[in-house]
Amino acid sequence: MTHELIEKSKKYLWLPFTQMKDYDEHPFIVDSGKGIKVKDIEGKEYYDGYSSLWLNVHGHRKQELDEAIKKQLDKIAHSTLLGLTNVPATELAEKLVEISPEKLTRVFYSDSGAEAMEIALKMAFQYWSNIGRPEKQKFIAMQNGYHGDTIGTVSIGSIEMYHQVYGPLMFESFKAPIPNVYHSKSGDPVQCRDECLDILEKLLIENHQNIAALTIESMVQGAGGMIVMPEGFLSGVRNLCTKYDVLMIVDEVATGFGRTGKMFACEHEGVQPDLMAVGKGITGGYLPIAATLTTEDIYNAFYDDYEKLKTLFHGHSYTGNQLGCAVAIENLRLFESENMVEEVSKKTEDLHLLLEELKSLPHVGDIRQLGFMCGIELVYSKETKVPFPAKKRVGYQATLKMRELGMLTRPLGDVIVFMPPHVSTREDLKAMVTIMKEAIMEVTNEVTGVEA
Ligand SMILES: *Cc1c(COP(=O)(O)O)cnc(C)c1O
Repeated sequence: MTHELIEKSKKYLWLPFTQMKDYDEHPFIVDSGKGIKVKDIEGKEYYDGYSSLWLNVHGHRKQELDEAIKKQLDKIAHSTLLGLTNVPATELAEKLVEISPEKLTRVFYSDSGAEAMEIALKMAFQYWSNIGRPEKQKFIAMQNGYHGDTIGTVSIGSIEMYHQVYGPLMFESFKAPIPNVYHSKSGDPVQCRDECLDILEKLLIENHQNIAALTIESMVQGAGGMIVMPEGFLSGVRNLCTKYDVLMIVDEVATGFGRTGKMFACEHEGVQPDLMAVGKGITGGYLPIAATLTTEDIYNAFYDDYEKLKTLFHGHSYTGNQLGCAVAIENLRLFESENMVEEVSKKTEDLHLLLEELKSLPHVGDIRQLGFMCGIELVYSKETKVPFPAKKRVGYQATLKMRELGMLTRPLGDVIVFMPPHVSTREDLKAMVTIMKEAIMEVTNEVTGVEA
């Protein structure tokens, strides 16, 4: 039975972000999950060390979330949001406005983080057109940024390996540097931050008349390698956007919903975005719901008689899906009743101390953490920060070893991602860090041993 399924998976599937040759060598099929563990079809259990790709909050098969879906199913599974609404989509919108930064008062739903960002781009673009300033058409994006895999979001992304091949399909955008303290010359966060802000300001001075919006991940660049921005950077970017009349689109898809120890990461710096994309944790990792939140000012620029053609002509078949919205509402209720944000915030220091233990390993170059969003960068030489040869695929090998030892995660190059579900206890965290330590030691020893 299990063998048959494995064969079928190899025969019929094409998996996202996956070289299928790798999959064929290391097939894996999830059968079930409970709490912060998932079980494969052979019955072996694994810690969910990356929250099933940065989504999960309360663990798998959380009773209240399961019930919320069943209860909604007894009413209706789905009806459209085009021109009308439904009960859970309406109630969830109120809740989202309540918990998000004050200036954000309107909710536009979609099904994935990429769509939420794509919608933000279209809103920003059309906003300027609707208010009679159609020359503001361009975007500034951050170097090393990631906002999803649709053509629009790839155009504002800049991770060469993922994005280069699609170059001819993209619209052009300006790219502003992001402070990467570990790899900077000075290694000084303040200097690094100020240099980047200076370059951004020059770009804005020269081009702001043609710029609609700037896009940025909130506090941490996720897919770019878990790059935590130095204090004052995000708020510095906010100030520059305000000064030069450019809308600020903040991507909270990875960082939102308590992941970094605040409900939204922009709260770390009191930043009020003009548009904010959310997804991933919004349903506790259950169903595909995402949303773009924006201000009353932007909303009003689209509000007029139909024949003025100011409508946002965008929508998806499953926008505002009832099952998804119902589970999102229950997820947010649990955030309150179980103090989920404070829980993460409290456990952040414990996790920090646990991760410190990895620092002494001979090939752990940098450990970056904001709340439960962590990256462990493996390097060949800690002194010179020289990376391992790419073809050794040290990050990938290390995560395969972790799998063997009972924990799932995915690397970003040679950065090991560690993003456990919010409910992970100190003991869970300790067990997972122990697995990471052992795997990193074994794999880096193997690789350097072969070379010596
Ligand atoms: C995952 C992610 C996205 C894309 O979300 P999908 O739901 O995968 O489309 C966008 N931005 C950031 C920062 C992300 O981490």
